[in-house]
Amino acid sequence: MKILFVSSEVYPYAKTGGLADVAGSLPLALKNLGHDVRIIMPAHKIIYAYGSEIKQTGRKVNIPVGDANKTGRLYEGKLDNQVPIYFVGNDEYFNRVKLYGEHGRDYADNAARFTFFNRAVLEACKALSFQPDIIHCNDWQTGLIPAYLKSLYRSAPFFSRTRTLFTIHNMGYQGNFNQHFLPQAHLPWSLYTPDGVEFYGKFSFLKSGLIFSDILTTVSQSYSKEIRTSEYGFSMDGVLRHRSKDLYGILNGADYSYWDPSTNPWIKKNYSPKNLQGKQECREDLVSRMKLKVKPETPVLCFISRLCHQKGVRLVMQGIQDIMKMGAAFVALGEGDSEYQEFFRQLPKRFPGRCASHIGYDESLAHKTFAGGDMLLIPSQYEPCGLTQLYGLKYGTVPIVRAVGGLQDTVQRFSSSSKKGTGFKFKGFKFNSFNHSIQRAINIYKKDETIWRQLVLNGMSRDYSWRRSARKYVGLYHKALRSTKPKPSPIRQLPARNLNQEFDLIEPDSLALAP
Ligand code: ADP
Repeated sequence: MKILFVSSEVYPYAKTGGLADVAGSLPLALKNLGHDVRIIMPAHKIIYAYGSEIKQTGRKVNIPVGDANKTGRLYEGKLDNQVPIYFVGNDEYFNRVKLYGEHGRDYADNAARFTFFNRAVLEACKALSFQPDIIHCNDWQTGLIPAYLKSLYRSAPFFSRTRTLFTIHNMGYQGNFNQHFLPQAHLPWSLYTPDGVEFYGKFSFLKSGLIFSDILTTVSQSYSKEIRTSEYGFSMDGVLRHRSKDLYGILNGADYSYWDPSTNPWIKKNYSPKNLQGKQECREDLVSRMKLKVKPETPVLCFISRLCHQKGVRLVMQGIQDIMKMGAAFVALGEGDSEYQEFFRQLPKRFPGRCASHIGYDESLAHKTFAGGDMLLIPSQYEPCGLTQLYGLKYGTVPIVRAVGGLQDTVQRFSSSSKKGTGFKFKGFKFNSFNHSIQRAINIYKKDETIWRQLVLNGMSRDYSWRRSARKYVGLYHKALRSTKPKPSPIRQLPARNLNQEFDLIEPDSLALAP
């Protein structure tokens, strides 16, 4: 099967979060199953910093954006020397310091940047003579591709066999823009309806992906159910309920060729379940690197996260005093909202020798922290899949998680009587519930070394590699290829929370597709 994997970020070329990890590893797993997989992403400025060879293809595409004609130069590299990866270059749009915005603000022209990218993906297929069976789209930054295929490119013979699968990595990021951008994207106004790309008066890239893709997936079973509810659906739950029969949950995998303490070159000493001595050395290394002053029996709690509301940062902030009282040490590695950054930046001054923080993005330090920590805090408000808990498990750093989304599906509650389970879980999004779990973990850690060791080994032996999930994607690609683009029936769009919208029952018009 010919698969084009489209993502706005791909590790190691560019990364802001878990999407990049997925885009940098799932295509390799698909290739190992024998498929012709290629990746395409924007040529962000940062991709050149990685140091792997990026060549010109000599091909370019011309894309209309509004009245202008923008050129995309196509470059190519090889992910892990195996999977071809194409980059769409346009300096005006992508030669920037960051991927989506700076100083806490999105770039004002994100609609234009990603419209350009989406259409360039389709034109690049033609320019490179790569006729995909499946275009695998990811998140709002790729959401217009399915709409283009079902409107402007609907009769294009080149794409007559092509089907789309759209993966939702996070419903909280929707790419909603002013409706006046629709003609700039050269999409017909007939798509701007509540059963098309209109979302409470905005032109929504995410909704475009949800409506027009042949198959939808999200990154865990639990999240696939949660997003159909008003609590977690970010006002798109009606759309998702409407598309229920095409929506699947497939758990993300971890790339163990990279996230493995027995081989990772960045940590002080490699270790494995058979020999945990190295983990002790990694802990000492982290303690001295972060200038902590702790006793051997002091648990080191870590928080490695984007600093935003979703990740439960407030719970950590509220809980820090109690964590200190419980006799633990704390290390934070994060980047995000400036208010949160400031809080964590000040922590070492408030609790010298007991709290440490690094504000910024540091891949190598992330590995060192996973390896050197004893416990990993993940109190997310919602968590589509979450990768850090998978890395925590593999690195023997016991996760303390909120029982939600992928965290619920991948961490099993530890019972000290049966000695089964891999971590600690709490339900309510409240700092009391979170603190209670931390206290329980610390009690076990301090009381019984043998039981703690068993808990660590339970987690390290879990296998969340990509192979099984990659097979499930292939199953869905086949299903998509069998699909014959039925006409969608009306959608019941519920009122957007906080938008004071009237209840909106959509008239049963059929979906008008142009031309
Ligand atoms: P999300 O995609 O919502 O940010 P995930 O748990 O799926 O959350 O993935 C987070 C990824 O980003 C992990 O690879 C984690 O190690 C990494 N990460 C998060 N913050 C940092 C940071 N400040 N420095 C280095 N890596 C980070």
